[in-house]
Amino acid sequence: MAVADHVDFPTFMEGVKRRNPGQPEFVQAVQEVAEDIFDFIADKEEYHAQQILRRIAEPDRVVSFRVCWEDDNGNIRVQRGWRVQNNNAIGPYKGGIRFHPSVTESVLKFLAFEQTFKNALTGLPMGGGKGGSNFNPKGKSVREIMRFCQSFMTELYRHIGADVDVPAGDIGVGGREIGFMFGQYKRITNEFTGVLTGKGLEWGGSLIRTEATGYGAVYFLANMLAAKGQDLVGKSAVISGSGNVATHAAEKIVQLGGKVLTLSDSGGFIHDPDGITQEKIDWVKAHKTHRRGRIEDYCAEFKSATFTAGKTPWAVPCDVVLPCATQNELNGDDAKMLVANGCIAVSEGANMPTDLAGVHVFKDAKIMFAPGKAANAGGVAVSGLEMSQNSGRRSWSEAELQQMLKDIMAGIHERCLTYGDQGGGYIDYVKGANIAGFKKVADAMLAFGVV
Ligand code: NDP
Repeated sequence: MAVADHVDFPTFMEGVKRRNPGQPEFVQAVQEVAEDIFDFIADKEEYHAQQILRRIAEPDRVVSFRVCWEDDNGNIRVQRGWRVQNNNAIGPYKGGIRFHPSVTESVLKFLAFEQTFKNALTGLPMGGGKGGSNFNPKGKSVREIMRFCQSFMTELYRHIGADVDVPAGDIGVGGREIGFMFGQYKRITNEFTGVLTGKGLEWGGSLIRTEATGYGAVYFLANMLAAKGQDLVGKSAVISGSGNVATHAAEKIVQLGGKVLTLSDSGGFIHDPDGITQEKIDWVKAHKTHRRGRIEDYCAEFKSATFTAGKTPWAVPCDVVLPCATQNELNGDDAKMLVANGCIAVSEGANMPTDLAGVHVFKDAKIMFAPGKAANAGGVAVSGLEMSQNSGRRSWSEAELQQMLKDIMAGIHERCLTYGDQGGGYIDYVKGANIAGFKKVADAMLAFGVV
């Protein structure tokens, strides 16, 4: 591998591991990007001299704080909260908040790092950040969730602002939690500003923000297929997850003429060979979001389906795959099985759902593989449009926003082609996304000097 930052690739990665002990997800995310960037900057002296890659792989700051709250039985509970502000070279920090027991500093650092490149790819002026807590919303009452969100924001408010850092939702954080956090921010600061995105339509939210990540991942998939003269009509899709991203990805697949075979949650997956229609997707949305139910209950409602406990859905043969649940849910063996079963394209709705071995299998097989930082950027893109609407005190129509989302996803696809087209009909979307995202951020950093 070529020389970069005046060290070779293994030495660079050794340094990343040494400086970030016990943070495997962060190291993995840096490695996936560095594999492509090292070759790209081999002959670009300025990036070396200014240590750009080394600087992007060190967050601007990591804020960690205690979150105390009282449960319904009067017990005092203590959680840890974080905000990772990775890089604001091209705009205010921007990225979601995740509430899940698996949240650690490593997970949030990987997400903030990825977010930096993703946001650059959208073409909008947004830096990269991410936050969250190891709080588990499952089994909590609405009042408990409200008290937790208020306590979380009572510290977080010092570190964010409409021109500073603008969080949004992620796993475990939807419109309800954004409402509780926005209410507390407003109460503390006495300011009504666009400090969070994913807000309700009555109080500054944008149309199609809820749908944007899942829809965008399918638009990106459609762009990849179109580049090969194909479309989604009649194609079978395997989707993991059953939350915001998965259900809206399923909806758009159905709208574009495809057939959705699976959905999943942390308990296992359902396989419905008859296809998961719009009516069934509506049932899943209501069941998972409002009733906080389990995906296995689908089989009692729709008899054509079967439930497999404790497994991911990758053994189900299909044309296209959308992993939309969580990181590292698809490994090298899963990827081999998918390729062997004839899968032609993968569009990552989740962040880093495919592990490094899986990424290498897809790349070696030269199938169409869109990494999350390109494919799932539709959500943050519409968040960026929500910020514009808030600062301009206006709101665009649904048709306008749908068109903007489509254009942004097509623009990201184009940017991936610039550095990803390997000739012979193969497009390396991972390389294309990594280099295009890196170059934009890196060039801004060069302009600022050593800061
Ligand atoms: P939700 O909380 O709405 O849904 C998450 C889904 O994934 C649920 O079905 C959940 O199952 C499942 N899941 C979560 N953790 C695990 C796990 N450890 N193992 C197995 N299944 C799991 O989240 P979103 O749909 O918003 O987010 C999904 C992914 O998309 C994440 O990677 C997120 O970072 C990414 N993303 C989200 C964006 C957004 O706009 N919301 C934007 C860009 C990326 P269960 O119900 O059992 O917990």
